[in-house]
Amino acid sequence: MLQPFVADAIRIRVTGVVQGVGFRPFVWRLAHELELAGWVKNDAAGVEIHAEGAAAALNELERRVRDEAPPLARVDSVWVRPVAYEATAGFAIIASSGGRVSTAIGHDTAPCAACRAELFDPANRRYRHPFITCTHCGPRYTVTRRLPYDRPQTSLAPFPFCPDCQREYTDPADRRFHAETTCCPNCGPRLSLRDAAGQPIEGDPIAQTLALLKAGRIVAIKGLGGFHLACDARKAATVACLRERKQREEKPFAVMLGAVSPALTFAQLTGDDVALLESPERPIVLLPKLPATDALLPGCAPGLPEIGLMLPATPIQYLLFHDAPDMVLVMTSANPHGEPLVIGNAEALQRLAGIADAFLLHDRDIVVRCDDSVRRGTGFVRRARGYVPRKISLPRAVPPVIAVGGWFKNTICVTRGDEAFVSQHIGDLDNAAACGFFEESVAHLLHILDVEPAIVVHDLHPDFHSTRFAAAFAAERAIPGLGVQHHHAHIAAVCAEHGVREPVLGVALDGVGLGSDGTAWGGELLRVEGARFERLGHLRPLALPGGDIAAREPWRMAAAALHLLGRGDEIARRFADEPAAPMLATMLERGINSPFTSSAGRLFDAAAGLLGVRRRASFEGQAAMLLEGLAVRHGAIGACPDGWRIRDQILDLLPMLAHLEDCEDAAAGAAWFHATLAAALVDWLAEAAGRTGIRRVAAAGGCLLNRLLSAALRAGLAARGLELLEARALPPNDGGLALGQAWVAVNSAAGA
Ligand SMILES: [Zn+2]
Ligand SMILES: [Zn+2]
Repeated sequence: MLQPFVADAIRIRVTGVVQGVGFRPFVWRLAHELELAGWVKNDAAGVEIHAEGAAAALNELERRVRDEAPPLARVDSVWVRPVAYEATAGFAIIASSGGRVSTAIGHDTAPCAACRAELFDPANRRYRHPFITCTHCGPRYTVTRRLPYDRPQTSLAPFPFCPDCQREYTDPADRRFHAETTCCPNCGPRLSLRDAAGQPIEGDPIAQTLALLKAGRIVAIKGLGGFHLACDARKAATVACLRERKQREEKPFAVMLGAVSPALTFAQLTGDDVALLESPERPIVLLPKLPATDALLPGCAPGLPEIGLMLPATPIQYLLFHDAPDMVLVMTSANPHGEPLVIGNAEALQRLAGIADAFLLHDRDIVVRCDDSVRRGTGFVRRARGYVPRKISLPRAVPPVIAVGGWFKNTICVTRGDEAFVSQHIGDLDNAAACGFFEESVAHLLHILDVEPAIVVHDLHPDFHSTRFAAAFAAERAIPGLGVQHHHAHIAAVCAEHGVREPVLGVALDGVGLGSDGTAWGGELLRVEGARFERLGHLRPLALPGGDIAAREPWRMAAAALHLLGRGDEIARRFADEPAAPMLATMLERGINSPFTSSAGRLFDAAAGLLGVRRRASFEGQAAMLLEGLAVRHGAIGACPDGWRIRDQILDLLPMLAHLEDCEDAAAGAAWFHATLAAALVDWLAEAAGRTGIRRVAAAGGCLLNRLLSAALRAGLAARGLELLEARALPPNDGGLALGQAWVAVNSAAGA
């Protein structure tokens, strides 16, 4: 046994997502298997290992630390250096040490297969335990206050281990060895069901919740990053009641199912969609509906081409579906009046009063508010639970900056070295509560990343809460602020995630954003290179009769199109039942309160208005979504080659709008609009590519969420030999803006 002369000693430093993922027990088991002595510990930089033993075994340790990391770990780097041999006895996991934080908290995941098996095994001591978790699964980001990731820093701190849990926690051979959020029915949090008045409902909370749901009641259920409002998705009256109480007239509701197989009744699924639904992050996946879906799930996503489905993400949700496998539940975020998601028990009873008939609560606090993520194919529509706080890798180390995003679908971004961290979806900054959540998120993100920003970046619009916050933040810390044009930021976000600093042609198809010239942009052709951009061209502007209200009333955009077509005299007749129609014609005629915008989003509205798809939108983007739904139902159609003109790099789609005005069949018109718009954009980009010699296109903006448009653009550009870069790591809409703002700032700082 005594062979000190053949032994070596090394220190291994591992960085990445290596805390809270079972990394130390994994190293412990490797060390035992390889008969090595030493220790492993967490610290603020990641994991450090001291190992002593035979040189071959040390090499093997280094290789396997790299190659065989646990499922939720992500190893970024492994540094090895020889150190003095200390004749350590045995191999131990030792206490964490503090220091400067430069590691990452893990993301929340659904229960792993092993935990799910135990959950429904009557012989297991965690049988039906609603908080079952292990080192490979469960809550992380939403329960962690600060690093290093240890139980006292999480919302499990008030639940000391019982002897059985303590034994598992300290047994390196156990799956729950150092599982910081583990607990059991003896020592863990507890479920409780309350009625609308907050009084306890007797009996088993799961069974009673199911009884309420089956009876058509609405139950607020505490999830990972906030509360959901749940009800039976097949009961038309119940769904209608939820809409009425939530005052969410027509926005689509996501639907939760117990497994993938029942999803086949409601949507078309590819193999990739199934993988996404079943992925540990458990996002809502937007899927094309089947013809019968609206009848089967009345009122969930009326008239829209897609429905959002998801599978259970927590043990509580698994318990509900285990006892009612055929159940189909509306699971919509509990965010009354567009305010941030409800996370606290008392807050739920108060803010959801009058909406929920009952409350399924528990006493494990949600520390960080985090909405469900929404995905479509390889892209994001909303990035939050399950994906945050994962980093986006940058091509090189950059100065520390904070970018505060825009107004709608706000997110923030902080850079650290060669990493960018984008916050969860915060929402529209149009109410005090959302602005509060925004400020909380800035503080939390800077705190957990331990970054002191050198620059604060914001939108050009002076009236956004985020812009005003940035000015105060810059003054307080005596650091520079930088305003970045909205559509430049959209294109820069795509460049950042693809690591591109060479020139690209950027096409931003978006709602309205403030342009560098003070006018309202939104359908832009830009040349973007690092921190610089040049506006090459734009869509031919349309008036916004009445200003901002035109964005909510597509018929006004249709009137603007008629006016531009020289058919303003038709407005009053065409929209005879709109009391404002005669006045609108006059306003357009005289240019009163009718600012112009090149926004592509408003072009969609004009088309929807002309085709009679929608007079008023009840939520942002609704008219465009309904138009897409009609086009999908109609099927593919060819573009009309005389639908557009390009003059001085201005893309004029007025001829197309004239066609739509005369179109009898709305579905055919919608299909033709999509085909023609895509063909026009490809033509526009190809011409710019010929002029500039730039063969690479970056496309972004909210309109890129349109599946038909983005597919046609992809195919059309490929056919012209142009390369297309799209948003993959973040949504193409304003949810990605902050990354682009940060990218512009770090490239400016580098003097690019
Ligand atoms: Zn597990
Ligand atoms: Zn216990």
